[in-house]
Amino acid sequence: MKYTTLGKTGLRVSVVGLGGIPIQRTDMEGTRKVIDACVETGINYIDTARGYTVSEEYLGEALEGRREKFILATKTMARDYAGMKADIEKSLQNLRTDYIDLYQIHNIKTDAEFAACFGENGAYQALLEAKAEGKILHIGATAHGVEALERLITEFEDKIETVMFPYNIVENQGEALMQKCKEKNIAFIAMKPLAGGNIEDGTLAMKYILQNPNCTIAIPGMGDANEVYQNAAAADMGALTAEDKEACAKIAGELGQTFCRRCGYCAPCPKGINIPSNFLFANYLRHYGLADWAKSRYFSMSATAKDCIGCGTCETRCPYELPIREMLKKVAVDMGEAGN
Ligand code: SF4
Ligand code: SF4
Repeated sequence: MKYTTLGKTGLRVSVVGLGGIPIQRTDMEGTRKVIDACVETGINYIDTARGYTVSEEYLGEALEGRREKFILATKTMARDYAGMKADIEKSLQNLRTDYIDLYQIHNIKTDAEFAACFGENGAYQALLEAKAEGKILHIGATAHGVEALERLITEFEDKIETVMFPYNIVENQGEALMQKCKEKNIAFIAMKPLAGGNIEDGTLAMKYILQNPNCTIAIPGMGDANEVYQNAAAADMGALTAEDKEACAKIAGELGQTFCRRCGYCAPCPKGINIPSNFLFANYLRHYGLADWAKSRYFSMSATAKDCIGCGTCETRCPYELPIREMLKKVAVDMGEAGN
């Protein structure tokens, strides 16, 4: 495993970290195995979130007796002082620790959110107090849009030590700003290395990210030990070959930019449509020659694309500003249910 310094925090971290979203789809025993594999492969960075249901709790239990081996990062959508204060306490309790190495303001986007977080009685004030009390050691933020990332590393560069942003073969819109992060010694944490599961070749995806010297660390979501072994191995691979570059260009050409990253922020839908699953099964139908399997899974859902009433609520929540309603219409057509 290769190690690097996490920007201004000075923490020494493995260049591949554990992204904690998929911990939600495993159980306690599975989580212990994931942590065992991290110890074995030298992965020492774990990222989770208040919003990932049981992830903090499972990780906390699996880390009992070995917490000191890891740098722990978590995050919350809280924007005000009271919400942030309560979430820090909850994270400490869930993770069974008396300090968290990095606490992040999660998915900051709008002017109103910036004002709420960094204004008087905002979330940032609570983070500063927790830091003074030793409950958290460092402060970071995550964003999905380039504008928010730019604001974080210009207007708020003296307040945050790390940023987390999507970066992968098809999402390199943050590349120019990654260079700025490096210059300012703000760590760049790459989230969504597989573009929310849309990139099949995990090894190539990791290689692409880690060859960029402006990327500090990549945190692929991992829910079983085999994924840990596979992603850890990517840390020791060299530069992209001409063949790799060609494969990356092919993937980028096929996916474009209008695709679902399966982050789940669009939920809940008033009609009970599981939006990312609708897109997932449509992808299996379109790209992977799994029409029968995709259709049987698709039609086993209680609500599908045809049930969309076009209210648009989901679109106001999607950090990638996807035209979800239009995309669902195409899903309904491809699944043969349009007009039903
Ligand atoms: S636009 Fe359709 S998918 Fe989106 S929240 Fe409304 S009903 Fe659900
Ligand atoms: S539609 Fe948007 S918000 Fe919903 S899961 Fe996909 S990328 Fe995330």
